[in-house]
Amino acid sequence: MAVIVAVAVDGHFPSGVDSPPTTAYHPSMKLADRLSTVAPSATLAMAQKARDMKAKGRDVVSLTTGEPDFPPPDHVIEAIHKALTDGYTRYTPVGGLPELVEVIRAHYANKGLSLASNQVVVSAGAKQAVFNVAMAVLNPGDEAVVLAPYWVSYPDIIRIAEATPVTAVGTQDDGFVVRPEVLDAAMTDKTRLVILNSPSNPTGGVYSRADLEATAEVLRRYPNAVIISDEIYDRFLYEGAEQISLLEVAPDLEDRTVVVNGCSKTFAMTGLRLGWAVGPKTLIAAMNMLQGQSTSNASAPIQMGGVAALTGDPGPVERMLAAFDRRRRFIVDKLRHFKGVTCFDPRGAFYAFPDVSGLFGKARPDGTVVKDADDLSDYLLEQYAVVVVPGAPFGAPNHVRLSYATDEDTLDRALTRMAEAFERLR
Ligand code: PMP
Ligand code: GLU
Repeated sequence: MAVIVAVAVDGHFPSGVDSPPTTAYHPSMKLADRLSTVAPSATLAMAQKARDMKAKGRDVVSLTTGEPDFPPPDHVIEAIHKALTDGYTRYTPVGGLPELVEVIRAHYANKGLSLASNQVVVSAGAKQAVFNVAMAVLNPGDEAVVLAPYWVSYPDIIRIAEATPVTAVGTQDDGFVVRPEVLDAAMTDKTRLVILNSPSNPTGGVYSRADLEATAEVLRRYPNAVIISDEIYDRFLYEGAEQISLLEVAPDLEDRTVVVNGCSKTFAMTGLRLGWAVGPKTLIAAMNMLQGQSTSNASAPIQMGGVAALTGDPGPVERMLAAFDRRRRFIVDKLRHFKGVTCFDPRGAFYAFPDVSGLFGKARPDGTVVKDADDLSDYLLEQYAVVVVPGAPFGAPNHVRLSYATDEDTLDRALTRMAEAFERLR
């Protein structure tokens, strides 16, 4: 099997996003050079496209954004209401309310990771936590290795920090797990950051204990690299898949590993913006300082919602996970029946990530040829009002991403329309 060696993804806007760069709105406005290589978030852009079409009255079925269609658990909503009436309306410590920091520490203590309170920083979402790590460790000219396919925002966050993203690619045949020799080929003495994400957005791949041991073996050879383990999908596991944290298999990497997580996915709190990072004291202090000079604390009542989420009845989360598992089986089974499509069986997160390259080169009913996943996504969007995210912004141009954090009726309608759309390709 050929080894896919790392490629720098320098300076290219992900295709499949047609939002104009910000400068287009104000031609006379000169913006910072650092924005010249940064693209808008493709997932958020596609979700906006779906909203715009809906507003125009189109019967849109959107499988774009990775956000549960469930509401947060009732006890979380109640805790937020109560926090408001109890006076949680003022600034909190930048890194989080002591109540929440304690609960986060207890959460990790249960997993065998003992943390001091100054090893925790609470942010307005996990995205901010990743951003703060990048800003705290990267200098211009540094390299940051992203295990691909990757969540769209990692390379752009790295570019905002004026460093260069480098990808190490895991293939569908390997369950989207990056082989150690591929990771090793991507790492250099300029690598200052490595980002792992298991379970993975967009693939649904989950790193096993053996995979993580092999990954850790490589990481040990690069002592200058800080590691982000983005574990935001750690509860979204199916068919016996296990969440293993890098630190469980490699506690010796603790002094340079930051674990990122949050409430957005597990507790269906995407719009409430609550995430955190835990890691080495010096780095957490730097992130705290950056946050103190940018956004300050995450919203105070939402932090109390986070306390309730992490300590409350797990029933609502379990019911949501059971629904997601049913949908996962439904969507994968349908996709596998489409000619020209192959689909990996995702064991984590809530995305299906089929390879649609078997449809490239075919003609649409109007005679135009579907060249790539961007074209295919446009065809689905324009002719069938089905919105998916093309794979290029995830570093996987042969794929499209479908979120099944979507109600069953919407999923069914989307898959029925896709079947018709694909059948009409010649
Ligand atoms: N990491 C991954 C892998 C994600 O998919 C997301 C989704 N938004 C985030 C981080 C950010 O989560 P949040 O909404 O808490 O910022
Ligand atoms: N992470 C989610 C997604 O991939 C939410 C949107 C975003 O922040 O990218 O769709």
